[in-house]
Amino acid sequence: MQEMIKRIVIVGGGTAGWMSAAALSKILGGRIAIELVESDAIGTIGVGESTIPMIRRFNAVLDIDENDFIRETQATFKLGIEFRDWGRVGERYMHAFGRVGQDLATVDFHQYFLRMHAAGKADGLAPYSINAMAAAVGKFMRADPRHGNSPLADITHAFHLDAGLYAAYLRRYSEARGVVRSEGEVVEAVLRSGDGNVEAVRMADGRLVAGDLFLDCTGFRALLIEGALDTGFESWTRWLPCDRAWAVPCAAGPDLLPYTIATARSAGWQWRIGLQHRTGNGHVYASSFMDDDAAAAALMSSLDGEPLAEPRQLRFTAGRRRKIWNRNVVAIGLSGGFLKPLESTSIHLVQSAIARLVAFFPTAHPEQADIDEFNRQSAIESERIRDFLVLHYHATARSDSPFWEHCRTMPIPDTLQAKIELYRAGGRLSRHDMELFTEVAWLQVLHGQGVRPRGHHALADLLDEEEVAAYLGDIAEVTRNCVAVMPAHAAFIKAHCAAGDPA
Ligand code: FAD
Repeated sequence: MQEMIKRIVIVGGGTAGWMSAAALSKILGGRIAIELVESDAIGTIGVGESTIPMIRRFNAVLDIDENDFIRETQATFKLGIEFRDWGRVGERYMHAFGRVGQDLATVDFHQYFLRMHAAGKADGLAPYSINAMAAAVGKFMRADPRHGNSPLADITHAFHLDAGLYAAYLRRYSEARGVVRSEGEVVEAVLRSGDGNVEAVRMADGRLVAGDLFLDCTGFRALLIEGALDTGFESWTRWLPCDRAWAVPCAAGPDLLPYTIATARSAGWQWRIGLQHRTGNGHVYASSFMDDDAAAAALMSSLDGEPLAEPRQLRFTAGRRRKIWNRNVVAIGLSGGFLKPLESTSIHLVQSAIARLVAFFPTAHPEQADIDEFNRQSAIESERIRDFLVLHYHATARSDSPFWEHCRTMPIPDTLQAKIELYRAGGRLSRHDMELFTEVAWLQVLHGQGVRPRGHHALADLLDEEEVAAYLGDIAEVTRNCVAVMPAHAAFIKAHCAAGDPA
């Protein structure tokens, strides 16, 4: 038998800390002690409300009942993100989750679409996506496998949730499975002489919390991974210049939108995330292109409900920690790096870091080769997400402000350049095996932002134009008919997972 580690210490109790505690307490089944230390005085970042469909896998591993989860976190369902004014002012498109169209045997659906688009006989991709069409009219239902091949069996959803309620929910879950929570501020990490591993963290009251493996979930403070271990940070601000945000909740409107709205502004963009009990709003901006007061005023003047609090400012640097796992510390959440919330990937990166930690779970004597591979995979994953985000800023025709002029003309990562070039050539999309976003996600954003290929797949010309028109027309018609029988989003929540008063 190999020697097991005996104690895991999680420092930080935001979304990252409690997701880690919940998953590890479930998976380890109480056989390794877990203690979570958090400081009420420091608090959490409090934003992070929009998710992607992978979160459902996380909930499934935890055996969480989805209706209960919706109730407890005041959540709504999310079918995608609508991008407004990104390619050009006045334009909008949806990055919808799930499938778009239905592939034929040899050639992908989108190649036929591109052919018809080039001929002026097709416009956007939305008519071929049940998620996009349902979102547009505020409808929702869960995918129902009883519908066989129909799009109704293929609806892909995520959630908008209240991050504070989610952390509280996971805390109850974790404590019920033996996680010990300690309140108080960590003032320093005690390093072991010799290997330089973290031996314990010292609390403000002098108490030492010792462990074999430490998860740094301290958010932007990165107390262990950077504060104690000086791991280093790779900044991506040259590609992702936004570095601040104002966030404010406002009263929820009568319609619960089953999608996030991301509206481009003159020096950044604004999010709108509808929950059951309130709407989350935020204005993400580049401080080198807009001052703080102007950014706050732009946010407050564009709310669609009464503000429920004063706006709160957040500051950040896009980029990633050079190593997510260093010695016996694994950085999970904002301590590991930050990518813009544009495609709601941060909570997912928490989830995938936990999954990777489980895959590479160390013995009491970890192998450096395992740690290196963990770090290599983490780096590729975040670089590919970075590229996807940079695409949104860069592939634009906007030149109406210095910010957009900068984004449109800035040099971009080679990996992204290669993807765009491939698509421009013949509408082809390639995906790295460590890559989160699928070809169809890239397609929707490339097309939505106005990138047009010079040609399409040669074999998409084997059918004559009437046949292709009929093929696309059939998919659009079936999709419309399916949406017609779906219930309204608000009605679905009321019927299946209505919330009482939030705690
Ligand atoms: P935090 O929430 O900051 O938690 C840190 C924890 O560490 C707290 O419990 C704190 O008390 C504790 N702590 C810190 N220092 C100490 C100490 N010395 N002693 C003891 N405890 C300590 N993600 C998404 O997926 N979707 C979104 O829509 C989204 N929107 C975002 C918008 C903005 C503007 C920003 C900045 C982020 C957004 N995110 C989003 C990211 C998301 O908020 C975070 O990834 C997520 O909340 C995880 O945060 P965290 O737990 O790492 O950090």
